[in-house]
This record gives sequence, structure tokens and C-alpha cells, in this order.
Amino acid sequence: MRALICGAGIAGLTLAWHLERAGWRVEVVERAPAFRDGGYMIDFYGPGQEVAARMGLAGRLEEARHPIDELSYLDRHGRVTSRLTTPPAFRSVVSLLRGDLARIIHDDTAAPIRYGTSVAGVEQDGGSVTVTLTDGTTTEVDLLVGADGAHSRVRDLAFGDGAASLRYLGHHVAAYLIGDAGLSREVGRRYRMLTVPGLMAGAYALGDDRLALLFLRREPDPALPADPAAALREHYGRLGWILPGALRAIPDDLYYDQVTQVVVDRWSAGRVVLLGDACQAVSLFAGHGASMAMAAAWVLADELSRTTAPAGTTRPAGATGATGDGVPAALARYEARMRPVIEDVQAFGRRFVEWMAPSSGLRITARDWLIRLAGLPGADRLFLRSMSPSGHRLVTGGPGRPVADRL
Ligand SMILES: Cc1cc2nc3c(=O)[nH]c(=O)nc-3n(C[C@H](O)[C@H](O)[C@H](O)COP(=O)(O)OP(=O)(O)OC[C@H]3O[C@@H](n4cnc5c(N)ncnc54)[C@H](O)[C@@H]3O)c2cc1C
Repeated sequence: MRALICGAGIAGLTLAWHLERAGWRVEVVERAPAFRDGGYMIDFYGPGQEVAARMGLAGRLEEARHPIDELSYLDRHGRVTSRLTTPPAFRSVVSLLRGDLARIIHDDTAAPIRYGTSVAGVEQDGGSVTVTLTDGTTTEVDLLVGADGAHSRVRDLAFGDGAASLRYLGHHVAAYLIGDAGLSREVGRRYRMLTVPGLMAGAYALGDDRLALLFLRREPDPALPADPAAALREHYGRLGWILPGALRAIPDDLYYDQVTQVVVDRWSAGRVVLLGDACQAVSLFAGHGASMAMAAAWVLADELSRTTAPAGTTRPAGATGATGDGVPAALARYEARMRPVIEDVQAFGRRFVEWMAPSSGLRITARDWLIRLAGLPGADRLFLRSMSPSGHRLVTGGPGRPVADRL
């Protein structure tokens, strides 16, 4: 069986990892000219972490982790208004760069990746998909996977331009890395966040003079500014703390986007399927996008292997269930298993908006009190549970039950 995966991100690489071990011939196309390193910090936990452990990647995740000793909130002058020393229950959360997570999966995957290439055309008959690539070549495969992010090209080509709605969550987000020993020392091994109504600026020091910065801004208009770096300076430039220095050094690879969730009526059409943010973006407010992308890749690989596992090849570790009836049916089962989980995590993300980016001084004060309460003995577990939507339990089967027992 042959698969073409569009997008060498967390979802696409995880699926490639599983399919090649199940005996598929897998090729990946990626729009970026080279592997996408760096990016922004993510907190990685929940079902994706269990999938990574089953892939034997836990040790590498631990090596890539940037430990955080404290979470603290600052006012517009940089004065701490509340802080929480990282409680024991939070030690399972792995904070690392998105690019490092992708690199770890990539390094354990053999599938060839064609960089600087995307999908330009898709045609299918019942038995296969013919894909025209932007380099002018054509390939015929049994499965085309759109793992090309929230603004998916495969989705537009195979499902039609209006197939997805982007649910705008009222914020713009920006992130970048800078190298600055002085600012890194000032931030230390803490996640520090300055909040004023409608604006949040966060910083993590990575321990090697690099600093990861994250900006969130309440904005009713989803349209992106013509000059994102200038917009950041305009909105955050008058705030204090490390921001004047950090805003002087905005790099060319600045990440800037609307905060959205992706909603698509159906996740597959014939032999074309969507995966990861392309169909299930939950937004950074939910904080589980990478984790859910890996979980979804695991479920998809499991359903495909039920259908197609050739003799002598392996199914994802722990997978169970009878063999099925062809690729389109496997894609429908994948959607049936994942969609309720994603809807739950998306709803959780929408409830979290006021927590991450409070809209008023009163809400900032309430958030500070909650942070102080979370520091009381035993409260950390409740706090961590409040960060874990019940959809986690739908995927993992509940605390203590490994992901594969349920999926
Ligand atoms: C600021 C921020 C903070 C976040 N924090 C967290 C967090 O704390 N925890 C967490 O779990 N998740 C977090 N996320 C979400 C997480 O990063 C995403 O949900 C996850 O990366 C989705 O994986 P993916 O493979 O679907 O998309 P991506 O990892 O974005 O990969 C998509 C790939 O497709 C490529 N591509 C795009 N278009 C095309 C095209 N036309 N042709 C070919 N290739 C294409 C891209 O270059 C990219 O390599 C955060 C996201 C942001 C923006």
C-alpha cells in the first residue's frame, strides 16, 4: 500500500512512523524548504505523550525538555503579582520546542521527505488517488493525507474551498526565539507572563541563552496586519519588563497567526483524509494540539492496519480489533473515534480563553488568586485535572489505563 502525506509536522511524521512499520510505502511532501526547527514552546502531555512513549521516544523527549521551576504572572511594570512553584503533579508535563518534538519523530522515521513541495491537484477514482505535485510530477497512491496544518491545501483541493470553517477565538498570537544571554538570565527557569487586559506576553528561557517569547492579543478583527513585527512593537512596546529588549530583536521567521479552531463537516473524502490541525485544530487555548495530533495519527494508523495489514507486518503497539473493509471505511472509523474527543477538547479550549488572556483587571485579580490557591498542599492535582479535558479520558480510557487499551 502506498501513502502520500502532505506536511512534515507532528501529525504527518507520527503517521509516517506508524505506517512504515505497518508495511506501507510512505512519501512525505513539505512546503517549507527544509526541516522546520525551533518555533515555539509547547507543553506536551496527555494522550500524545502516551503515544510517544509507545513509540519508544520518552527518553528523547526527556533530553529535549526545558524544565520550568516556576510559573509567574507580572504586571505592566514587570512586578510579580502571583507565582506558583512547579508542583509535583506538573512534572509529567514536558515543555519543549515544537521543532524539537517534530525532530525527535523525524529522526526515527525513514520515509523520504520532499521539501519545498506541496500538492497542486487531486483526482480520485474508486481504487486510487492521483496527486499532482507543485514540482510538476504526478504520483498514484492508495491514500493521500492532508497533515498540512490549519490552513490545509489538501483540504481545499479535495473537499472544496468552503469545506472548513475557521472558528476565530478573538485573538492574534505571535511567537519567536531570540538569543540573548542577559534577558535569558533575567527570566531564568521560570515561565513568566505579563498580563494587562487584552494583552499577554510570556517568556521561557531555554537554558542556552535562547529565550522563547509568546504574545497573545485580544483583537476582534481576524485579519492579520500587513507588518506583524510592527504590530507587535505598537501593542507591546510601551509595556515594561524585558519587552523593550525582546521586541528590538524580532527575527524574520516570526510566527504570527489568528487563534482559531478548525471545524470540518467530514474528515475524509474517498481515499483522501485530513489529520492534525487540518481538521481538528483545538487552538493554543486548549494547549493539546500536538498531543491530539499524535493521538489522531495513532488512531488513523490503527484503523488502516485493521484494514490492510499485510502478513508479517506490525500494527501499532497495543492495537486491537478485527480487520475491516477497505481504506474509505477505515477513514470513517478513524473519524468516528476521534471527532468526539476533539469536540470535547475544543470546547475546553474555548473555556480557557479568559484564563490565558484575561479581558479585565478584575479577571486578572481572580486569576492571581487561583494561582495562589493552586500552591496550597494537594491543590496541584485539582489544578492539573482542570487543565485536562474529559476528552483525555475518552482517548486514554481513564487514569492509569494506557492509550492503546482504549483506542
Ligand atoms: C503558539 C502556539 C502554542 C502552542 N502550544 C501548544 C502546547 O502547549 N501543547 C500542544 O500540545 N500544542 C500546542 N500548540 C498546537 C500545536 O503546535 C499544533 O496543534 C500541532 O503542531 C499540530 O500538528 P500538525 O502536524 O497538524 O501541524 P504542524 O505541526 O503545524 O505541521 C504542519 C506541517 O505542514 C506544512 N505545510 C503547511 N502547508 C503546507 C502545504 N500547502 N503543503 C505542504 N506542507 C505544508 C507545514 O510547513 C508544517 O510542517 C501550540 C500552537 C501554537 C501556534
